[in-house]
Amino acid sequence: MHALNPVFLPGPTNLPESLRRACDIPTMDHRSAAFGPILASAMAGVKQVLHLSEGEVAIFPATGTGGWEAAITNTLRPGDKVLAARHGMFSRKWIDLCQRHGLDVEIVERPWGEGVPVEAFAAALAADKSHEIRAVLVTHNETATGVTSDVAAVRAVMTAARHPALLMVDGVSSIGSIDFRMDAWGVDLAVTGSQKGFMLPAGLAIVGIGPKALAAMETAGLPRCFFDIRDMLGGNYPYTPPVGLINGLAVSTGLLLEEGMESVRARHHRIAEGVRRAVAAWGLTTCAARPELCSDTVTAIVTPDGVDAGRIVRHAAEAYGVAFGGGLGEVAGKVFRIGHLGLMSDVMALSGIATAEMAMTDLGLPVRLGSGVAAAQEHYRNSKTAPVRAAA
Ligand SMILES: *Cc1c(COP(=O)(O)O)cnc(C)c1O
Repeated sequence: MHALNPVFLPGPTNLPESLRRACDIPTMDHRSAAFGPILASAMAGVKQVLHLSEGEVAIFPATGTGGWEAAITNTLRPGDKVLAARHGMFSRKWIDLCQRHGLDVEIVERPWGEGVPVEAFAAALAADKSHEIRAVLVTHNETATGVTSDVAAVRAVMTAARHPALLMVDGVSSIGSIDFRMDAWGVDLAVTGSQKGFMLPAGLAIVGIGPKALAAMETAGLPRCFFDIRDMLGGNYPYTPPVGLINGLAVSTGLLLEEGMESVRARHHRIAEGVRRAVAAWGLTTCAARPELCSDTVTAIVTPDGVDAGRIVRHAAEAYGVAFGGGLGEVAGKVFRIGHLGLMSDVMALSGIATAEMAMTDLGLPVRLGSGVAAAQEHYRNSKTAPVRAAA
């Protein structure tokens, strides 16, 4: 990789210089009066980004995976049934984590490239007359396949079935980038990490907790200690917090809120649409099965039969010093991914599209140099907005 080049990974994402500096602070006593306002500001910022009014935020020294664990162990009991779809690497890993904790996961299998099957969830909830399903798990943005699912639609079928299960959402690659509304969508637990939409280094698991999830903590029975949310409430850490990262989170949420969450969402949509037009101009397709499933934070591009997508990723890194995402799990070797979330502008995206074109041309794929760039340029020219100042 070359330090001057942006990365096109769907996490970890590019670090704005201001956030890099915000994380770099001298040793601070986390029990001193100085830390309290930093933590309070980070928590208040996260609540606003989540559109969460009533509820709490817990920030653990961990990653998104730790957030999954916090969500289930704080609200469920051993043997509890949960409903989840398996349609990509991250939904697969969350299910695995639940199973290792002794939960009984009712799994709806979907092809990789599909979204969360709302109809199948509706049927499972309707059939569950005795309300054995304690939680419904949704991977909002399946980062492995570049698929965004409709969380509000899942809540709607839960409401229609008058089902009391908790709605838990993995928003690791969506929160802070694309539309995410805890209150409006009735999300009880939302999980993310610091290194994606928040544009920080990895190291924080961030969990939004709605009122119903807070109540469920009283009856939860899975073992938990490090991830016990009860020890986190009230603004005191039960262990040493990563003060620099939390300061970074306070500044990061400030940047996002200054840009405005609606503008952040619109920027990601515009940039993603340019990438999708480039993919079409190359004569390639996305892993997402239908246009309405396409993610605005990451695009997974299917390579032609017989072309190992991993070669494109390795060649772009070696020849041009640019990082793209490889294929994971069932789509390993079949897709490569362009991450376009966090610190990202149309001009940056154009450099990633141009680099992908060079790498594919070098490897003999039938892609015409400039074709994807031109398609994206046309889109960006025709949908111009003011450049974002805040992220600089
Ligand atoms: C990155 C990611 C995770 C895992 O997060 P870590 O911070 O690597 O533990 C989980 N879910 C989704 C959707 C992701 O994109």
